[in-house]
Amino acid sequence: MRKRIGYVLAVLALLLGGTVVTTVMSPGTASADECYTWSRVLKPGMSGSDVRELQIRVAGWVASGENLALDGSYGPATEAAVKRFQSGYGLAADGVAGTNTFNKIYQLQDADCTPIHFDHSEFNYNCGARNYNGGKVTAATARENMRRVMWQLEALRHKLGDRPLVVTSGFRSVSCNSSVGGSSTSLHMYGQAADLGLSSSPTQCQMFHGSKSAGFEEILGPGYPGHNDHVHVGNKSSRFWSAPNC
Ligand SMILES: [Zn+2]
Repeated sequence: MRKRIGYVLAVLALLLGGTVVTTVMSPGTASADECYTWSRVLKPGMSGSDVRELQIRVAGWVASGENLALDGSYGPATEAAVKRFQSGYGLAADGVAGTNTFNKIYQLQDADCTPIHFDHSEFNYNCGARNYNGGKVTAATARENMRRVMWQLEALRHKLGDRPLVVTSGFRSVSCNSSVGGSSTSLHMYGQAADLGLSSSPTQCQMFHGSKSAGFEEILGPGYPGHNDHVHVGNKSSRFWSAPNC
């Protein structure tokens, strides 16, 4: 989350009777963030690791059926996702990521770069191991994959009216996955899937339909075998959506 220095300075200025001037500083000087600070305005045509970090944050703001590539290249899909993110949070939707957009992201992220409403502890239960070990990818990759899923869920949560989404399963090691009866090709073993339980505030079908425009290519819900008590969302390269009862 954003450091509170700016707030303290503003209060101090008010106490001293001064005028609070909202200075438009370049991002990075105005809004140092504990997680990640962007140091330039990003717009279509640019590329770099800072673009990729932006793409992770807006991956849940795609059109229905779209899956945003984290390629570090600010193309039309990234521009459209940034516009939807901006509209979703009441900002001017110009598709350019500048101070206002970065400040909103800083408000939405914790020091470990996960979004404020989700945390690794909700995703790495792993049958009690509480880590990302033993899957089909390295623990570091699984953790990073899970972070992207969290940002997609943060977008889904906001679009469904800022109501809590309860995660009942995230990453699972190969042995954990088989012990709970998961598919032998389950995305849970890659940190690319999450299950949203019945104690979530939105209904199962609201979560199922909402996930289509949150970048998920695998969405399974009520009526699909084994999915009457949760909605499964995941990232993969081909689409498979099924919830016959929705
Ligand atoms: Zn699942």
